[in-house]
Amino acid sequence: MCCIYRDLGKEFGQWLDWVLEEAEVYDYGRYPAKGMGVWLPYGFKIRRNVVELLRSLLDSTGHEEILLPLLIPENILAKESEHVKGFENEVYWVTHGGLQPLDVKLALRPTSETPLSYMESYWVKSYKQLPKKYYQVVSIFRYETKATRAMLRVREVTTFKEAHTLHEDFTDAERQVREAIDIYRRFFDELGIPYLVSKRPEWDKFAGAIYTIAFDAMMPDGKMLQIGTVHNLGQNFTKAFEVWIQKKDQSIDYAWQTSYGISERVIATLLAVHGDKKGLVLPFRVAPIQVVVIPIPAGGDNVKKYVVNEAIKLGECLKKAGLREYVDLRDDITPGEKFNIWELRGVPLRIEIGPREVKEGHVTVFRRDLRAREKVPREELVDRLKGLGEAIDNNLKNRAWGAFRERILRTNNVQLARKHLRGGGVVEMPWCGKPECAEKLAEVLNADVLGTPLDPYEVPANEKCPLCGHKAVAYLRLANKY
Ligand SMILES: [Zn+2]
Repeated sequence: MCCIYRDLGKEFGQWLDWVLEEAEVYDYGRYPAKGMGVWLPYGFKIRRNVVELLRSLLDSTGHEEILLPLLIPENILAKESEHVKGFENEVYWVTHGGLQPLDVKLALRPTSETPLSYMESYWVKSYKQLPKKYYQVVSIFRYETKATRAMLRVREVTTFKEAHTLHEDFTDAERQVREAIDIYRRFFDELGIPYLVSKRPEWDKFAGAIYTIAFDAMMPDGKMLQIGTVHNLGQNFTKAFEVWIQKKDQSIDYAWQTSYGISERVIATLLAVHGDKKGLVLPFRVAPIQVVVIPIPAGGDNVKKYVVNEAIKLGECLKKAGLREYVDLRDDITPGEKFNIWELRGVPLRIEIGPREVKEGHVTVFRRDLRAREKVPREELVDRLKGLGEAIDNNLKNRAWGAFRERILRTNNVQLARKHLRGGGVVEMPWCGKPECAEKLAEVLNADVLGTPLDPYEVPANEKCPLCGHKAVAYLRLANKY
């Protein structure tokens, strides 16, 4: 079971390790602290473009970026009881300053609901200041005890975008949950990543939340990966931290909160859903290099020099047009080797330029997603490249969604569901709403419960829970999860 999306040439886990190393994205496993990896220059540029996209979506919807301290005093982290219970097995503690034991232990933040709520009790007094929408992009630390995996399950999550909002009432917090879901949809759509939005079951919600909505994506091995969550926190944290506000009607009440997060799992997903056996296939939108120019020198020295100069001029022209370009002038490797390197690194477009191209006034353009070549006249080049960039992003998105939809099966037949899950994917089964039936179903199918669709599809009146036979109230999504 290796290739739900397309041919990766090897099992997905091996492919991911191979591509992260060979394409020089992320060095994992050699760092001497377990569960922590190093972003390499090329990977860091991908990361930066993805984070900038998210920042622009948040900034344009009234979110403000802040930066909280990394350390959280134990008494603050422990103030909301459900929250601390949910995290107690995962927290790293700082217990000493030099040789001196600390009076109060300090946690490396696992997430920032508690310190921010503490500060908000000083900052916010009136409905007139609301809503408040803060976010930060930081490292968080969680002591994962399961086997760690590069980018998918790490102990230092280096790219945690956490947003935290504050509201006058429940209704406005609900509106915010919808806004957050909409922002995440737009974000994943821009990256061409297919997803399901599910309301997590009670037993799997964020510690301290009223409920949790989660985005799950499918890895090429058919297993689901949680890539984003949105929580309605109600007044749980504002009560614990006494975040009082004066409301419009003059009454005093605790404020209402939401929080939502995304991590570098989204970058792993970006690489996984679009890549192939030749390596990465990056969307034009976030590729560090959108167009690589490769001169194909042939003939005498003068001709070679001429071709190289033309390639440099071409690079300057692309840069002026606002494209992220790179002219590969190395002369210790062959053009063929350069093709392989840049295909491995997922550069969306490649321009090949040799003596004949220069003479005839055109270039050869290769697109990575379809691995197809075309001739383009020099005067039409910039427009054509931009058009191709858009076409590549659309193709990647449609291709990924097409493969994703094929792996979602709605059925009330347990045998069929089990068979489907063996090939990887998701099943949606009619469900009576009782937790014990969900649990049993997960057991029978040897799968995990993702939850129910965010906007429940109407369940036909005659549909029954396949376990207890009672009337179904929703579809329950089940899959194998990372
Ligand atoms: Zn049932």
